[in-house]
Amino acid sequence: VVRIEGLRKEFNGVQVLKGVDLSIRAGEVAFIIGPSGGGKSTLLRCMNFLETPTGGTIKFRGEALCHEENGSIRIKPESAIRQARAKMPMVFQHFNLFNHRNVLQNVIEGPVRVLKQDREKAIGEAQEILRSLGLSAEMEKYPAQLSGGQKQRVAIARALAMDPEVILFDEPTSALDPELVSGVLETIRVLAQKGRTMVVVSHEMGFARSLADQVYFVADGVVRESGPPDHLFNNPQTDQLKRFMSSIL
Ligand code: ATP
Ligand code: MG
Repeated sequence: VVRIEGLRKEFNGVQVLKGVDLSIRAGEVAFIIGPSGGGKSTLLRCMNFLETPTGGTIKFRGEALCHEENGSIRIKPESAIRQARAKMPMVFQHFNLFNHRNVLQNVIEGPVRVLKQDREKAIGEAQEILRSLGLSAEMEKYPAQLSGGQKQRVAIARALAMDPEVILFDEPTSALDPELVSGVLETIRVLAQKGRTMVVVSHEMGFARSLADQVYFVADGVVRESGPPDHLFNNPQTDQLKRFMSSIL
């Protein structure tokens, strides 16, 4: 569903992504791991154009959202980018909910405004999604009245309401109190079991090991190593990955 080739991103002359290749197949769960500052968030943000890549190709559903021509990057018009982003929503570390809207309003915002869905239909679907995530009792609450774990599940509900092709997660549990982490991981696990295509940046190595189809080790702006989790974790090839694993285990 997503194929990335030679992706580059530079901020004020500093190359943060130096040519990233990665491809995500339908139904696959890909984990991105790596040291702080290595470019994981930038990579995810480029995938749905929260950041504008400075080079390389991103293909989504067979369509090139950006590519290079005569040495400069060509990006699809904003309308096409917006559509692609709607089908590849992102769940952030800090939830990014609308604080002045209740849970149900948060979830229907995208379907109504971006997908132009009928409001009543969007409400019905949102209620069903919230129920499936164990949030039936929270629909009328405001974000300030929720626990971190509940907020994150609302953010996941918001992504699901877009009927997404791929969901991007950027460290979805790293801002949570320890006792709330497992509930959110469990929610992600259930989505994986249902065949959702997901890209997850996470430091939860046990989780990556048990859930990932592919793991990408991103450091210094490139994919240093990738492969199925057992292979990658049991046979790290680079000193960098060995160091990274011993630093977090
Ligand atoms: P972490 O594990 O800490 O979240 P990361 O792998 O997600 O790290 P990024 O956030 O992608 O790393 O950052 C990669 C590099 O890009 C860092 O050196 C960061 O300072 C730089 N960077 C990221 N965003 C910007 C920006 N908007 N402007 C300038 N530099 C940026
Ligand atoms: Mg990050």
